[in-house]
Amino acid sequence: MNIIRIAVVLLLCTTMMAAQSQPAADLIVTNARIWTVDKNRPEAQAVAVLGERIVAVGSNQDVEAWRGSGTKVIDAGGKLLLPGFDDAHVHFMSGGRQLDNVQLNDVTNAQEFARRIGEKAKKVAKGEWITGGDWDETKWTPPNLPTKELIDPVTGDVPVFVSRYDGHMGLANSTALKLAGITANTPDPPGGTVVRDEHGNPTGALKDAAMDAMWKAIPPLTHEQRLQAARRALAHAASLGVTSVQEMNPDYEDIAAYSELLRAGQLTARMYEAPLITQVEDQAKLGIGHAFGGPYLRIGAVKAYADGSLGSRTAYFFEPFSDEPNNRGLLADGMHPVSLMRDRMMTADTGKLQICTHAIGDQAISIILDLYTEIEKAHGDWDRRWRIEHAQHMAAKDFDRFAQLHVIASMQPYHAIDDGRWAEGRIGHDRASRTYAFRTFLQHGVRLAFGTDWDVAPLNPMLGIYAAVTRATLDGKNPNGWFPEQKLTVAEAVEAYTMGSAYAEFQDKEKGSITSGKLADMVLLSDDIFKIDPVKIRDVKVEKTIVGGKLVWDATTGAAH
Ligand SMILES: [Zn+2]
Repeated sequence: MNIIRIAVVLLLCTTMMAAQSQPAADLIVTNARIWTVDKNRPEAQAVAVLGERIVAVGSNQDVEAWRGSGTKVIDAGGKLLLPGFDDAHVHFMSGGRQLDNVQLNDVTNAQEFARRIGEKAKKVAKGEWITGGDWDETKWTPPNLPTKELIDPVTGDVPVFVSRYDGHMGLANSTALKLAGITANTPDPPGGTVVRDEHGNPTGALKDAAMDAMWKAIPPLTHEQRLQAARRALAHAASLGVTSVQEMNPDYEDIAAYSELLRAGQLTARMYEAPLITQVEDQAKLGIGHAFGGPYLRIGAVKAYADGSLGSRTAYFFEPFSDEPNNRGLLADGMHPVSLMRDRMMTADTGKLQICTHAIGDQAISIILDLYTEIEKAHGDWDRRWRIEHAQHMAAKDFDRFAQLHVIASMQPYHAIDDGRWAEGRIGHDRASRTYAFRTFLQHGVRLAFGTDWDVAPLNPMLGIYAAVTRATLDGKNPNGWFPEQKLTVAEAVEAYTMGSAYAEFQDKEKGSITSGKLADMVLLSDDIFKIDPVKIRDVKVEKTIVGGKLVWDATTGAAH
């Protein structure tokens, strides 16, 4: 055997061994238009998955090498494949509950509001409350706040406490007020308002901290109710291509329900849980730090509230509301005094927990940036990935600080086209120009993480991308965009909704793009959102949702798996 033949034989052997040692993929998606959100390879045709991870991304030919006899193949027919959507701000359990609750969000007048609550009251079991609802009186004619007199006649002794869609106000009937012990003599708590009529009697409407008495009166959900709500929410998420969610202020009992579903192999979305900072000691004691857990369920973040909302006129501003000269909003009760919040944040930071702070008004945001600065001074530098949730109305002077502190703007573009209907009337043109300022944030080098705030807004990511790209308000009055200079491109919006949110939960190495080695979370869309008229993005449907290489939604069968 001469030397050349030996070399050829050796070469053959190694080639055969390589072919044998490379396992076949479990799943191949071929013939797709893939937008990877990976800057090293923005576009591809095919992807191979082994187990729960991506093993190859490339041309149809590249990926074909991974096909084996047991490989499941999805022919995408040239359609758009994106990384799964990661919703950076949801209220998942209440969203799941809301799918079974009375629906009040699309109501357009007080009579219909009362009628739907009355219908629900006929169906509930004895002792059960009617909650949820997500009403929005700005959609009504006339747009007046509802009162208990409206619903008392149709609800009798069924207790009702239905929430405004922004979660910062609720309406109770007389039965519920009685159970919560709220009377004409009840003082307004710090950070809250009991709305009263001209005689000082409660109208049933309760704002922010005034709702706490009601939350105490409502019996907690049972474990079974939580499991049921979580399953409903998971199926809903799968059908919309939402493969990860970051849940703000869950109850510990909610996390227990997710843990049970995880053990049963039924979690079809990955969850990151941020319980309230009022309970910071619990997580701090465990010594777990941020993003602790496995790929499907993690904890290690805390959620704080700095103020209320624009809709309820409780967002905290430097200057009064333009249409209410004596009111510049309210700091949340955890901010009375501000040192209380500082202490809790210091505890969180010492425990290496991530801090996610709801702040909407410009002064609320400014105060939180002050606190973040103090913490950094006290504890030195580390990769904190601080977040401000909503970051809705920015003071011009604060964009630079936001960037210097590496704070992530966790924003919900759908709120922009919703609030944009009436925001300018409340805060004037100048402040409105820095509202949901996506573009200005990017120009300052601030990272965006997109989400929805479901069930405050719909969970559908297509509506969020549509909103960020068009900024066309829901009333149709700004077809070219409300403050159009703040619009994003489709690619920027998709990135904020995938890599941006993955970064915001310390998972950018694990997911957020279609990259070899990452978790195989992907979504196949009915239309190419990069090519269609942006107005049509809101109608685009999800054809398939893949989580960890498993098909969890298939529109052709209409079933969640
Ligand atoms: Zn929220």
